Amino acid sequence: MDNLPLSSRLNAVLTRIHQAHAESPAACLGEVTLILASKAQPLAVLNEALALGHRHFGENRLQEAAEKWPALKAAHPDIVLHFIGALQSNKAEEAVTLCDAIHSLDRPSLAQALARAMDKTGRRVPCFIQVNTGEEPQKGGIAPAEAPEFIRQCREEWGLPIVGLMCVPPVDVPPAPHFALLRQLAAAQGLAALSMGMTDDYDTAIRLGATHVRVGRAVFGERV
Ligand SMILES: *Cc1c(COP(=O)(O)O)cnc(C)c1O
Repeated sequence: MDNLPLSSRLNAVLTRIHQAHAESPAACLGEVTLILASKAQPLAVLNEALALGHRHFGENRLQEAAEKWPALKAAHPDIVLHFIGALQSNKAEEAVTLCDAIHSLDRPSLAQALARAMDKTGRRVPCFIQVNTGEEPQKGGIAPAEAPEFIRQCREEWGLPIVGLMCVPPVDVPPAPHFALLRQLAAAQGLAALSMGMTDDYDTAIRLGATHVRVGRAVFGERV
């Protein structure tokens, strides 16, 4: 992308986040959390971000997360590790043990596995329900029409700590209607957190109420 140092790119993203947040309907509701999407980033880069004081990171693959983060978390106990990728039900216990938030809860089998894992480990890990706002067959997420009932089940039947909703809009279409739909679904269920917005659209997402943005390339450069 460019050869600016990580600190400059991180500061540029934080500045844009603050500008967008000042114009957001959620401006009165506290800060937006920047989650650095750190898939495929080597330890040296993660340590650089940590040295700059950054603490929220997102990983897509549990195996990669398990290789990179236990040692980093031991060195920096205030790291908040968000799981943002597709999660297999048989990995629920590992995810609950390793991660501090899960953004990709998208089906009943996974909800039940997460509930069992939380009971067993005693860890209450905040969960975002992923909504497939574009109804794309290849993408994870519960269909928008099924979201209200799924949210109710997650809370009432399985007792999960549901904090908000997450989406990954289709590529090559304007994301704003997807962000607006997610916000509307969350508001109707009394959910405060909205995990939406990536490198190409995080400021749009914030103007539409995002509380958590997941940004990779704008900070780390293009993935190789
Ligand atoms: C990789 C990834 C991101 C970040 O994407 P960028 O375009 O690099 O900002 C956000 N969310 C999810 C689920 C991802 O997999």
